[in-house]
Amino acid sequence: MPTNRRRFILQTTAGALTGLASSAALATETHLAEDEPIAVALGYKIDATQVDTATYPKRAGAQGAQQFCRNCSLYRDRGNDVGTCSAIPGKLVAGPGWCNAWVPKL
Ligand code: SF4
Repeated sequence: MPTNRRRFILQTTAGALTGLASSAALATETHLAEDEPIAVALGYKIDATQVDTATYPKRAGAQGAQQFCRNCSLYRDRGNDVGTCSAIPGKLVAGPGWCNAWVPKL
């Protein structure tokens, strides 16, 4: 088999396996529900615009309104506007979500 063809097949197979592995990992992680104890403790909302800013003034005002999971330094994007959060292992959080542990990216 020519070297270029072999390389193409190996790269294509490796790419497909990587995609399957990340799909499988995503399938085993569940979305964090707002009523789970850790979500309640952190004031997590799937939709950050629904945060009670009287209770969580950190998200009040023009600067607070810019805070979302998707721009938190603890967030790792997994596609489809969901991601993992290093503060909440084993769960997926919503990109448009927020919690009181939000940390700006440096
Ligand atoms: Fe979202 Fe950041 Fe809170 Fe995790 S720590 S739930 S990524 S705002």
